[in-house]
Amino acid sequence: MGKVTVVGSAAMDLTVHVHKRPAAGETVIGSRLYLSPGGKGANQAVAAARLGAETFFVGCIGKDGYGEMIRRNLLSQGVDVSWLEDTDACGSGTAHITLSEADGDNSIVVIQGANALVNPDLVRRAAARLKESDVVLIQNEIPADAIDSVLDCCRTCGVKTILNPAPAGGLAPETLLKATWVIPNEHELHAWFPEQNLEDVLKAYPGKVIVTLGEQGAVYWEKDAVVRIPSYKVEAIDTTGAGDTFVGALGAALSEGQPIKEALRFANAAAALSVQQLGAQGGMPVREEVEQLLK
Ligand code: ATP
Repeated sequence: MGKVTVVGSAAMDLTVHVHKRPAAGETVIGSRLYLSPGGKGANQAVAAARLGAETFFVGCIGKDGYGEMIRRNLLSQGVDVSWLEDTDACGSGTAHITLSEADGDNSIVVIQGANALVNPDLVRRAAARLKESDVVLIQNEIPADAIDSVLDCCRTCGVKTILNPAPAGGLAPETLLKATWVIPNEHELHAWFPEQNLEDVLKAYPGKVIVTLGEQGAVYWEKDAVVRIPSYKVEAIDTTGAGDTFVGALGAALSEGQPIKEALRFANAAAALSVQQLGAQGGMPVREEVEQLLK
């Protein structure tokens, strides 16, 4: 069992179902609203814990009802929350998701709330935890100085890191390059390298940049060629959290010492299972389900 630490956001997701997502200025009638725990950091922690990694979460919530639900949910999924701090200064983070029933696609607005208070001081307090980890995961839903201090701390003590630069934008190129692996989707890659095509970026960062391509799986560069990890043909019901399942699963697999290609196949299988269920965390598979699909 590997040790995975996630430093990141935890939030409450408020999801509305619509037949078709509204265009600018348009109002549509939704059919359903439901609340579920989310935040890219917490999602990735849950994905890794469900797949058997010993998982620790470093983050910040408000002292409010959503914060309590977030903490209880992480605990119930087997995530260690000793480094989850709470604050009076602001409310817990929330994400407002519009899910299209027509194509299973989504659009999301994030309110940072207490996630904005994840800072280098909190990272310093959690430094012993980071040093004991096999893999540390971070995303772009906490302030840039916190991301930098996590990457610096891990680099100094030789701990491997996965940076998921999501949502897109706002990160300095140096930050991205400090991570052992960087996992953007196509949109995030384009925000990072607007002038370059996919293959050129992969080639420039062999083995470091791994791009997820939705139903087409994932790609990276090895030796002299693009390596494609094709996805599974499944009926997608809700792709919310597919990327988080992918990154959490990849972290779990790498923390056990799996080689990158094998770990990516594992992550691809986990993410394909996740899109067949509703909700970011709701569809995250357990280990046996992934192993069954990989057979
Ligand atoms: P999201 O923001 O919806 O959580 P993302 O945009 O960050 O996801 P994607 O590239 O869409 O990330 O998907 C991540 C991974 O999930 C893919 O590499 C693939 O393994 C899996 N996946 C996504 N969509 C599908 C699908 N329709 N069928 C099978 N697997 C999928």
